[in-house]
Amino acid sequence: MSKVMIIGAGGVGRVVTQKCASIPTVFSEIMLASRTKSKCDIIANEVGQGKVVTAQVDADNVPELVALINQFKPKMIINVALPYQDLNIMDACLETGVHYLDTANYEPLEEAKFEYSWQWAYQERFKKAGLTAILGCGFDPGVTGVFTARAAKHHFDEIHYLDIVDCNGGDHGKAFATNFNPEINIREITQNGRYWQDNEWVETKPFEIKQVLNYPKIGGRDSYVLYHEELESLTKNFPTIKRARFWMTFGQEYLTHLRVIQNIGMARIDSINYKGVDIVPLQFLKEVLPDPGSLGEDYSGETSIGCRIKGLKDGKDKTYYIWNNCSHQAAYDETGAQGVSYTTGVPAMLGAMMFLTGEWKKPGVYNVEEFNPDPFLEKLAAHGLAWHEEVNIDLEFDYNE
Ligand code: NDP
Repeated sequence: MSKVMIIGAGGVGRVVTQKCASIPTVFSEIMLASRTKSKCDIIANEVGQGKVVTAQVDADNVPELVALINQFKPKMIINVALPYQDLNIMDACLETGVHYLDTANYEPLEEAKFEYSWQWAYQERFKKAGLTAILGCGFDPGVTGVFTARAAKHHFDEIHYLDIVDCNGGDHGKAFATNFNPEINIREITQNGRYWQDNEWVETKPFEIKQVLNYPKIGGRDSYVLYHEELESLTKNFPTIKRARFWMTFGQEYLTHLRVIQNIGMARIDSINYKGVDIVPLQFLKEVLPDPGSLGEDYSGETSIGCRIKGLKDGKDKTYYIWNNCSHQAAYDETGAQGVSYTTGVPAMLGAMMFLTGEWKKPGVYNVEEFNPDPFLEKLAAHGLAWHEEVNIDLEFDYNE
């Protein structure tokens, strides 16, 4: 029986709150706190009276966070606000003696730079305080790390090639919308791509490497190599990996809109002065784009995310594919959120459960693949994300490059 504080009342926060509230034997008391309290109240009302308390908090303000934590006294914080808040929330956890979990690595507001160095630097402080920090426990990063850990534990002696393949085969009916926070999403995909090959990063232009990949129950989709944060931790934690890449699908319509957004300067993250007010174009754009949390109702189709791995087992080549497909409509019917929020929120809840039930408990700062994947995967399907695996199949990649 444990108290948790969820920070962030967006699409992911909605799913985490609903899922935690449905398991009172683990999550005995829940506080949902966010910048805009009215959004917390809407979610708390959906969950049912008395199950979730709400609060206003600016997670950019550490003393304010500390005061709220000291008042509620949670055992763990589930951070599903934005990546900008990660370090502040970790600081507040250290100050109050509370364990920590998030779904996205820290990113400085003024620069779209994705790396774990800032959060890994908390390792000794969390260890010394006897506190656990679980980093990147959404789907990707998150389940993709757990999938890789399962492959390493049960299927391979050495993993040589890892391709994480992320397909959104859904249709929300809008000309252009992002599936999670537009600002974070556009910052991520407009950066140069990067993949790991022979102990170094190979940089690519955005959308430079493209291949049609086939996804279960979806079919062939244009897939592009881009940089994604779990590549950094997975190549560190599984040093036998020779090449690691991350693929994501994008439709032509989406790419055309994105190109226009960039060309007209609306993807800029520096501040401009508009009629005496400083605004950041991308933050302004976010305000006029569809709210990802509102996409669920008419969303059809499925997401399919998984890991395609090649390596050695008992001296022989082996291939392995492990994946989940998630229906946007089923996610919406259950939680009122679309599939991308759902596939992020369920693992965040489950990671917290792993910690609170003692399965993933060790002082320090860890990425999910550093924990035992078995208890997590034993429960993942029961909480809404069924997974599948196949061995010795064609993974659709060229391994002779
Ligand atoms: P949203 O933008 O929908 O929600 C973010 C929430 O955080 C909002 O309620 C926002 O408040 C709140 N927030 C922002 N700043 C602060 C602050 N300073 N203090 C308190 N609350 C704040 O995003 P999503 O729900 O789509 O995504 C949540 C997180 O999940 C993001 O970090 C995202 O990167 C991550 N993610 C991870 C994925 C994975 O697979 N690992 C996939 C998808 C998302 P307000 O309502 O006032 O704006």
